[in-house]
Amino acid sequence: MPTIDCLIHDASLVVTCAGPAPRRGDGQRDLRIERSAVIAGSGGRIVFVGPASVCRERFTVAPDTVMIDATGCSVLPGFVDPHTHVVFAGDRRDELRRRLAGATYAEIAVEGGGILSTVRATRAAGEEALVQASRGRLAEMLRNGTTTCEAKSGYGLTLEAELKMLRAVKRLAAMQPVELSPTFLGAHEIPAEFRQDRAAYVRQVIDVMIPAVAREGLAEWCDVFCETGVFTPEESLAILRAGRQAGLRPRIHADELAASGGWRVAAELGARSADHLLFIDREGAAALAAAGVVATLLPIASFYLKLGRFAPARLLIDAGVPVALATDLNPGGGFSASMPFAITLACFAMDMTLEEAIVAATINAAYALDRQDRVGSLEPGKQLDAVLVSSEPIDLIRIGARAVKAVVKNGKVVAGN
Ligand SMILES: [Zn+2]
Repeated sequence: MPTIDCLIHDASLVVTCAGPAPRRGDGQRDLRIERSAVIAGSGGRIVFVGPASVCRERFTVAPDTVMIDATGCSVLPGFVDPHTHVVFAGDRRDELRRRLAGATYAEIAVEGGGILSTVRATRAAGEEALVQASRGRLAEMLRNGTTTCEAKSGYGLTLEAELKMLRAVKRLAAMQPVELSPTFLGAHEIPAEFRQDRAAYVRQVIDVMIPAVAREGLAEWCDVFCETGVFTPEESLAILRAGRQAGLRPRIHADELAASGGWRVAAELGARSADHLLFIDREGAAALAAAGVVATLLPIASFYLKLGRFAPARLLIDAGVPVALATDLNPGGGFSASMPFAITLACFAMDMTLEEAIVAATINAAYALDRQDRVGSLEPGKQLDAVLVSSEPIDLIRIGARAVKAVVKNGKVVAGN
Protein backbone atom coordinates (compact mmCIF):
# COMPACT_ATOMS: atom_id res chain seq x y z
CA MET A 1 0.00 0.00 0.00
CA PRO A 2 1.31 3.47 -0.80
CA THR A 3 2.40 5.61 2.14
CA ILE A 4 1.11 9.13 2.77
CA ASP A 5 3.21 11.87 4.34
CA CYS A 6 0.39 14.26 5.28
CA LEU A 7 -3.12 13.67 6.63
CA ILE A 8 -5.70 16.31 7.51
CA HIS A 9 -8.21 14.46 9.68
CA ASP A 10 -11.44 14.93 11.64
CA ALA A 11 -12.62 18.06 9.81
CA SER A 12 -16.34 18.80 10.21
CA LEU A 13 -16.55 19.53 6.54
CA VAL A 14 -14.28 19.86 3.53
CA VAL A 15 -15.09 22.44 0.86
CA THR A 16 -13.39 20.74 -2.08
CA CYS A 17 -14.37 23.06 -4.98
CA ALA A 18 -13.58 19.95 -7.08
CA GLY A 19 -14.81 19.73 -10.64
CA PRO A 20 -14.73 21.88 -13.74
CA ALA A 21 -13.04 25.29 -13.97
CA PRO A 22 -13.90 28.01 -14.39
CA ARG A 23 -17.32 28.02 -12.71
CA ARG A 24 -19.92 30.34 -14.25
CA GLY A 25 -23.60 31.13 -13.75
CA ASP A 26 -25.20 28.68 -11.30
CA GLY A 27 -21.89 26.77 -11.24
CA GLN A 28 -20.31 29.73 -9.46
CA ARG A 29 -21.98 28.51 -6.24
CA ASP A 30 -20.98 24.84 -6.58
CA LEU A 31 -18.70 24.17 -3.59
CA ARG A 32 -18.76 20.32 -3.63
CA ILE A 33 -18.78 19.88 0.14
CA GLU A 34 -17.75 16.57 1.69
CA ARG A 35 -18.73 15.91 5.31
CA SER A 36 -16.32 14.05 7.59
CA ALA A 37 -13.68 13.56 4.91
CA VAL A 38 -9.94 13.30 5.36
CA ILE A 39 -7.37 14.72 2.95
CA ALA A 40 -4.26 12.65 2.36
CA GLY A 41 -1.12 13.83 0.61
CA SER A 42 2.18 12.52 -0.64
CA GLY A 43 5.08 14.59 -1.93
CA GLY A 44 3.04 17.78 -1.59
CA ARG A 45 0.18 16.46 -3.74
CA ILE A 46 -3.29 15.29 -2.77
CA VAL A 47 -3.76 11.54 -3.22
CA PHE A 48 -7.13 11.09 -1.53
CA VAL A 49 -10.16 13.06 -0.32
CA GLY A 50 -12.96 11.04 1.29
CA PRO A 51 -13.98 8.94 4.27
CA ALA A 52 -11.26 8.05 6.81
CA SER A 53 -12.18 4.36 6.64
CA VAL A 54 -11.55 4.21 2.88
CA CYS A 55 -8.27 6.11 3.31
CA ARG A 56 -7.08 3.52 5.84
CA GLU A 57 -7.84 0.69 3.40
CA ARG A 58 -5.86 2.30 0.61
CA PHE A 59 -2.93 4.11 2.24
CA THR A 60 -0.38 3.53 4.98
CA VAL A 61 0.43 6.14 7.59
CA ALA A 62 4.16 6.24 8.42
CA PRO A 63 5.63 7.27 11.80
CA ASP A 64 6.73 10.59 10.28
CA THR A 65 3.46 11.34 8.45
CA VAL A 66 2.39 14.88 9.34
CA MET A 67 -0.97 14.54 11.12
CA ILE A 68 -3.04 17.73 11.02
CA ASP A 69 -5.92 17.66 13.48
CA ALA A 70 -8.83 19.60 12.00
CA THR A 71 -11.36 18.72 14.69
CA GLY A 72 -14.20 21.24 14.60
CA CYS A 73 -12.76 22.96 11.52
CA SER A 74 -13.76 23.43 7.92
CA VAL A 75 -11.04 22.83 5.36
CA LEU A 76 -10.98 24.90 2.16
CA PRO A 77 -8.58 25.05 -0.77
CA GLY A 78 -5.76 27.54 -0.17
CA PHE A 79 -6.86 30.93 -1.45
CA VAL A 80 -5.51 32.16 -4.78
CA ASP A 81 -5.10 35.95 -5.07
CA PRO A 82 -4.92 36.73 -8.81
CA HIS A 83 -4.23 40.51 -8.68
CA THR A 84 -1.62 42.06 -6.40
CA HIS A 85 1.01 44.78 -6.42
CA VAL A 86 2.76 43.18 -3.47
CA VAL A 87 6.28 44.24 -4.52
CA PHE A 88 7.01 47.92 -3.95
CA ALA A 89 9.12 50.29 -1.89
CA GLY A 90 8.10 53.42 -0.03
CA ASP A 91 5.17 54.27 2.16
CA ARG A 92 1.98 56.14 1.29
CA ARG A 93 0.18 55.92 4.59
CA ASP A 94 0.48 59.67 4.89
CA GLU A 95 -1.63 60.00 1.73
CA LEU A 96 -4.17 57.74 3.35
CA ARG A 97 -4.39 60.02 6.38
CA ARG A 98 -4.78 63.02 4.03
CA ARG A 99 -7.49 61.31 2.01
CA LEU A 100 -9.36 60.57 5.23
CA ALA A 101 -9.11 64.28 6.00
CA GLY A 102 -10.71 65.17 2.68
CA ALA A 103 -7.91 65.40 0.09
CA THR A 104 -8.82 63.87 -3.26
CA TYR A 105 -6.72 61.35 -5.16
CA ALA A 106 -6.31 63.95 -7.96
CA GLU A 107 -5.00 66.60 -5.51
CA ILE A 108 -2.50 64.14 -4.09
CA ALA A 109 -1.37 63.12 -7.59
CA VAL A 110 -0.82 66.75 -8.65
CA GLU A 111 1.54 67.19 -5.68
CA GLY A 112 3.62 64.21 -6.80
CA GLY A 113 1.85 61.57 -4.73
CA GLY A 114 -0.01 58.53 -5.96
CA ILE A 115 1.57 55.86 -8.14
CA LEU A 116 4.46 58.15 -9.13
CA SER A 117 5.55 58.49 -5.50
CA THR A 118 5.83 54.69 -5.28
CA VAL A 119 7.71 54.78 -8.61
CA ARG A 120 10.31 57.17 -7.13
CA ALA A 121 10.78 54.99 -4.05
CA THR A 122 10.93 51.76 -6.05
CA ARG A 123 13.47 53.14 -8.52
CA ALA A 124 15.65 54.24 -5.61
CA ALA A 125 15.47 50.90 -3.79
CA GLY A 126 17.91 48.08 -4.44
CA GLU A 127 16.66 44.62 -5.40
CA GLU A 128 17.46 43.30 -1.92
CA ALA A 129 15.54 46.15 -0.26
CA LEU A 130 12.54 45.40 -2.48
CA VAL A 131 12.68 41.74 -1.51
CA GLN A 132 12.83 42.57 2.19
CA ALA A 133 10.04 45.17 1.96
CA SER A 134 7.73 42.69 0.22
CA ARG A 135 8.48 39.59 2.25
CA GLY A 136 6.45 40.70 5.26
CA ARG A 137 3.45 41.42 3.06
CA LEU A 138 3.58 37.90 1.61
CA ALA A 139 3.72 36.52 5.16
CA GLU A 140 0.61 38.55 5.95
CA MET A 141 -1.16 37.08 2.91
CA LEU A 142 -0.15 33.59 3.97
CA ARG A 143 -1.54 34.06 7.49
CA ASN A 144 -4.84 35.01 5.87
CA GLY A 145 -4.92 31.80 3.85
CA THR A 146 -3.38 32.81 0.51
CA THR A 147 -1.14 30.06 -0.84
CA THR A 148 -0.76 31.32 -4.44
CA CYS A 149 -0.77 34.89 -5.73
CA GLU A 150 -0.07 36.98 -8.76
CA ALA A 151 2.63 39.69 -8.41
CA LYS A 152 2.99 42.62 -10.80
CA SER A 153 5.81 44.93 -11.74
CA GLY A 154 4.76 48.46 -12.69
CA TYR A 155 6.44 50.75 -10.15
CA GLY A 156 9.73 50.88 -12.05
CA LEU A 157 8.65 52.20 -15.48
CA THR A 158 12.22 52.02 -16.80
CA LEU A 159 13.74 48.89 -18.27
CA GLU A 160 16.17 48.44 -15.38
CA ALA A 161 13.65 49.15 -12.62
CA GLU A 162 10.99 46.89 -14.15
CA LEU A 163 13.55 44.07 -14.47
CA LYS A 164 14.63 44.72 -10.88
CA MET A 165 11.02 44.32 -9.66
CA LEU A 166 10.52 41.08 -11.58
CA ARG A 167 13.86 39.70 -10.37
CA ALA A 168 12.69 40.52 -6.83
CA VAL A 169 9.48 38.54 -7.53
CA LYS A 170 11.58 35.60 -8.69
CA ARG A 171 13.71 35.70 -5.53
CA LEU A 172 10.65 36.00 -3.31
CA ALA A 173 9.11 32.99 -5.04
CA ALA A 174 12.11 30.91 -4.01
CA MET A 175 12.37 32.04 -0.38
CA GLN A 176 8.87 31.83 1.13
CA PRO A 177 5.83 29.54 0.81
CA VAL A 178 3.39 31.64 -1.26
CA GLU A 179 3.64 30.58 -4.91
CA LEU A 180 3.95 33.60 -7.21
CA SER A 181 2.69 34.18 -10.76
CA PRO A 182 4.68 37.12 -12.18
CA THR A 183 3.16 39.82 -14.39
CA PHE A 184 4.92 42.53 -16.38
CA LEU A 185 3.00 45.81 -15.93
CA GLY A 186 5.33 48.33 -17.55
CA ALA A 187 2.17 50.06 -18.75
CA HIS A 188 0.96 50.93 -15.26
CA GLU A 189 1.40 54.69 -15.71
CA ILE A 190 3.19 57.13 -18.02
CA PRO A 191 6.35 58.06 -16.10
CA ALA A 192 7.02 61.78 -15.47
CA GLU A 193 9.88 61.94 -17.99
CA PHE A 194 7.57 60.79 -20.84
CA ARG A 195 4.57 62.97 -20.05
CA GLN A 196 5.26 65.13 -23.11
CA ASP A 197 5.66 62.16 -25.43
CA ARG A 198 3.47 59.27 -24.34
CA ALA A 199 3.82 57.50 -27.69
CA ALA A 200 7.54 57.22 -27.01
CA TYR A 201 6.84 55.46 -23.71
CA VAL A 202 4.45 53.00 -25.39
CA ARG A 203 7.23 52.25 -27.91
CA GLN A 204 9.68 51.78 -25.04
CA VAL A 205 7.36 49.21 -23.45
CA ILE A 206 6.82 47.37 -26.74
CA ASP A 207 10.26 47.56 -28.32
CA VAL A 208 12.55 47.41 -25.30
CA MET A 209 10.90 46.21 -22.10
CA ILE A 210 8.73 43.33 -23.34
CA PRO A 211 11.56 41.65 -25.29
CA ALA A 212 13.93 41.99 -22.31
CA VAL A 213 11.39 40.59 -19.81
CA ALA A 214 10.63 37.69 -22.15
CA ARG A 215 14.32 37.00 -22.79
CA GLU A 216 14.98 36.65 -19.06
CA GLY A 217 11.83 34.54 -18.58
CA LEU A 218 10.68 36.85 -15.79
CA ALA A 219 6.92 37.01 -16.40
CA GLU A 220 3.98 34.81 -17.37
CA TRP A 221 1.61 37.70 -18.05
CA CYS A 222 1.52 41.15 -19.61
CA ASP A 223 -0.90 43.67 -18.09
CA VAL A 224 -1.94 47.25 -18.92
CA PHE A 225 -3.73 49.91 -16.87
CA CYS A 226 -6.33 50.74 -19.53
CA GLU A 227 -8.12 53.78 -18.13
CA THR A 228 -9.12 57.30 -19.06
CA GLY A 229 -5.98 59.41 -18.55
CA VAL A 230 -3.65 56.42 -18.42
CA PHE A 231 -3.47 54.03 -21.42
CA THR A 232 -6.08 54.12 -24.20
CA PRO A 233 -7.72 50.96 -25.57
CA GLU A 234 -5.61 51.33 -28.75
CA GLU A 235 -2.35 51.60 -26.78
CA SER A 236 -3.44 48.72 -24.57
CA LEU A 237 -4.16 46.51 -27.59
CA ALA A 238 -0.76 47.26 -29.09
CA ILE A 239 1.08 46.53 -25.85
CA LEU A 240 -0.83 43.33 -25.04
CA ARG A 241 -0.41 42.05 -28.60
CA ALA A 242 3.33 42.65 -28.40
CA GLY A 243 3.38 40.87 -25.05
CA ARG A 244 1.53 37.89 -26.43
CA GLN A 245 3.93 37.65 -29.38
CA ALA A 246 6.76 37.46 -26.88
CA GLY A 247 5.00 34.74 -24.86
CA LEU A 248 3.49 36.96 -22.13
CA ARG A 249 -0.23 36.28 -21.98
CA PRO A 250 -2.69 39.18 -21.71
CA ARG A 251 -4.63 40.39 -18.67
CA ILE A 252 -5.88 43.92 -18.12
CA HIS A 253 -6.94 46.61 -15.61
CA ALA A 254 -10.27 47.59 -17.15
CA ASP A 255 -13.06 50.10 -16.52
CA GLU A 256 -12.16 50.86 -12.91
CA LEU A 257 -12.65 54.63 -12.75
CA ALA A 258 -14.78 55.18 -15.86
CA ALA A 259 -16.20 53.28 -18.82
CA SER A 260 -12.83 53.34 -20.57
CA GLY A 261 -13.24 50.52 -23.08
CA GLY A 262 -10.98 48.06 -21.30
CA TRP A 263 -13.51 45.23 -21.57
CA ARG A 264 -13.49 45.60 -25.36
CA VAL A 265 -9.72 45.07 -25.37
CA ALA A 266 -10.05 42.03 -23.11
CA ALA A 267 -12.78 40.51 -25.29
CA GLU A 268 -10.97 41.22 -28.54
CA LEU A 269 -7.74 39.62 -27.33
CA GLY A 270 -9.37 36.82 -25.35
CA ALA A 271 -7.43 38.00 -22.29
CA ARG A 272 -7.35 35.51 -19.45
CA SER A 273 -8.75 38.09 -17.05
CA ALA A 274 -10.24 41.58 -17.03
CA ASP A 275 -9.87 43.18 -13.62
CA HIS A 276 -11.85 45.83 -11.63
CA LEU A 277 -14.79 46.36 -14.09
CA LEU A 278 -16.73 48.82 -11.91
CA PHE A 279 -18.16 50.42 -15.04
CA ILE A 280 -18.91 47.37 -17.15
CA ASP A 281 -22.44 47.15 -18.57
CA ARG A 282 -24.65 44.40 -19.96
CA GLU A 283 -23.04 44.60 -23.41
CA GLY A 284 -19.59 44.30 -21.88
CA ALA A 285 -20.58 41.37 -19.68
CA ALA A 286 -21.98 39.50 -22.70
CA ALA A 287 -18.76 40.16 -24.61
CA LEU A 288 -16.57 38.84 -21.79
CA ALA A 289 -18.76 35.75 -21.45
CA ALA A 290 -18.54 35.05 -25.18
CA ALA A 291 -14.76 35.50 -25.17
CA GLY A 292 -14.23 33.30 -22.08
CA VAL A 293 -12.61 36.10 -20.07
CA VAL A 294 -12.63 35.86 -16.26
CA ALA A 295 -13.83 38.94 -14.38
CA THR A 296 -11.45 39.46 -11.47
CA LEU A 297 -13.16 41.80 -9.01
CA LEU A 298 -11.27 43.85 -6.41
CA PRO A 299 -13.77 45.19 -3.89
CA ILE A 300 -11.05 46.07 -1.36
CA ALA A 301 -9.79 48.74 -3.78
CA SER A 302 -13.28 50.23 -4.17
CA PHE A 303 -13.62 50.28 -0.40
CA TYR A 304 -10.31 51.95 0.48
CA LEU A 305 -10.41 54.37 -2.45
CA LYS A 306 -13.96 55.30 -1.46
CA LEU A 307 -15.02 55.00 -5.10
CA GLY A 308 -18.68 54.99 -4.10
CA ARG A 309 -19.46 51.93 -6.16
CA PHE A 310 -18.46 48.31 -6.63
CA ALA A 311 -18.29 46.07 -9.69
CA PRO A 312 -21.68 44.66 -10.76
CA ALA A 313 -20.96 41.07 -9.76
CA ARG A 314 -24.58 39.92 -10.17
CA LEU A 315 -24.74 41.28 -13.72
CA LEU A 316 -21.51 39.43 -14.56
CA ILE A 317 -22.56 36.13 -12.97
CA ASP A 318 -25.99 36.30 -14.62
CA ALA A 319 -24.31 36.93 -17.98
CA GLY A 320 -22.23 33.77 -17.53
CA VAL A 321 -18.89 35.42 -16.83
CA PRO A 322 -16.73 33.43 -14.37
CA VAL A 323 -15.99 35.73 -11.44
CA ALA A 324 -12.76 35.67 -9.41
CA LEU A 325 -11.79 37.79 -6.40
CA ALA A 326 -8.44 39.37 -5.56
CA THR A 327 -7.10 41.77 -2.93
CA ASP A 328 -5.31 44.28 -5.22
CA LEU A 329 -2.77 44.62 -2.39
CA ASN A 330 -0.90 47.86 -3.21
CA PRO A 331 0.54 50.90 -1.45
CA GLY A 332 -2.13 53.44 -2.43
CA GLY A 333 -5.55 51.85 -2.08
CA GLY A 334 -5.13 48.15 -1.41
CA PHE A 335 -4.44 48.16 2.29
CA SER A 336 -5.50 44.61 2.99
CA ALA A 337 -3.72 41.36 2.21
CA SER A 338 -6.77 39.39 3.27
CA MET A 339 -8.80 37.23 0.89
CA PRO A 340 -11.38 36.76 3.70
CA PHE A 341 -11.87 40.54 3.59
CA ALA A 342 -12.32 40.39 -0.20
CA ILE A 343 -14.88 37.59 0.34
CA THR A 344 -16.66 39.70 2.96
CA LEU A 345 -16.95 42.72 0.67
CA ALA A 346 -18.04 40.47 -2.20
CA CYS A 347 -20.94 39.35 0.00
CA PHE A 348 -21.88 42.67 1.55
CA ALA A 349 -21.03 45.20 -1.18
CA MET A 350 -21.48 43.15 -4.38
CA ASP A 351 -24.40 40.90 -3.34
CA MET A 352 -22.53 37.67 -3.99
CA THR A 353 -23.46 34.61 -1.95
CA LEU A 354 -20.87 33.10 0.36
CA GLU A 355 -20.63 30.08 -1.96
CA GLU A 356 -20.03 32.28 -5.02
CA ALA A 357 -17.38 34.25 -3.17
CA ILE A 358 -15.52 31.13 -2.03
CA VAL A 359 -15.48 29.75 -5.59
CA ALA A 360 -14.24 33.17 -6.74
CA ALA A 361 -11.38 33.06 -4.22
CA THR A 362 -10.30 29.51 -5.02
CA ILE A 363 -10.97 27.58 -8.24
CA ASN A 364 -11.97 30.58 -10.38
CA ALA A 365 -9.00 32.56 -9.09
CA ALA A 366 -6.76 29.62 -9.97
CA TYR A 367 -8.26 29.65 -13.46
CA ALA A 368 -7.58 33.39 -13.71
CA LEU A 369 -3.88 32.50 -13.32
CA ASP A 370 -4.10 29.36 -15.50
CA ARG A 371 -3.27 27.18 -12.51
CA GLN A 372 -6.60 25.35 -12.30
CA ASP A 373 -4.83 22.05 -12.99
CA ARG A 374 -2.62 22.43 -9.91
CA VAL A 375 -4.38 24.60 -7.28
CA GLY A 376 -7.77 26.04 -6.38
CA SER A 377 -9.50 22.83 -5.29
CA LEU A 378 -8.97 19.86 -3.01
CA GLU A 379 -8.92 16.81 -5.25
CA PRO A 380 -6.40 14.09 -6.09
CA GLY A 381 -3.53 15.22 -8.28
CA LYS A 382 -3.55 18.81 -7.07
CA GLN A 383 -1.13 20.46 -4.65
CA LEU A 384 -2.10 19.99 -1.03
CA ASP A 385 -2.75 23.69 -0.39
CA ALA A 386 -5.42 24.17 2.24
CA VAL A 387 -6.89 26.59 4.75
CA LEU A 388 -8.27 25.40 8.08
CA VAL A 389 -11.13 27.63 9.20
CA SER A 390 -11.84 27.42 12.91
CA SER A 391 -15.50 26.47 12.46
CA GLU A 392 -18.01 27.00 9.64
CA PRO A 393 -16.83 28.62 6.37
CA ILE A 394 -19.12 31.58 7.08
CA ASP A 395 -16.77 32.50 9.94
CA LEU A 396 -14.47 33.86 7.22
CA ILE A 397 -16.64 36.98 7.06
CA ARG A 398 -16.31 37.67 10.79
CA ILE A 399 -13.48 40.15 10.26
CA GLY A 400 -11.28 40.28 13.33
CA ALA A 401 -12.28 36.85 14.57
CA ARG A 402 -9.13 35.02 13.43
CA ALA A 403 -11.11 32.53 11.40
CA VAL A 404 -8.02 31.14 9.65
CA LYS A 405 -6.57 28.62 12.08
CA ALA A 406 -3.83 27.10 9.95
CA VAL A 407 -2.53 27.16 6.39
CA VAL A 408 -1.03 24.20 4.53
CA LYS A 409 1.14 24.57 1.40
CA ASN A 410 2.34 21.51 -0.51
CA GLY A 411 1.42 19.29 2.43
CA LYS A 412 3.29 21.31 5.06
CA VAL A 413 1.83 23.56 7.75
CA VAL A 414 3.20 27.01 6.90
CA ALA A 415 1.09 29.27 9.14
CA GLY A 416 -0.92 28.81 12.32
CA ASN A 417 -0.74 25.63 14.33
ZN1 LIG B 1 -3.91 46.68 -10.03
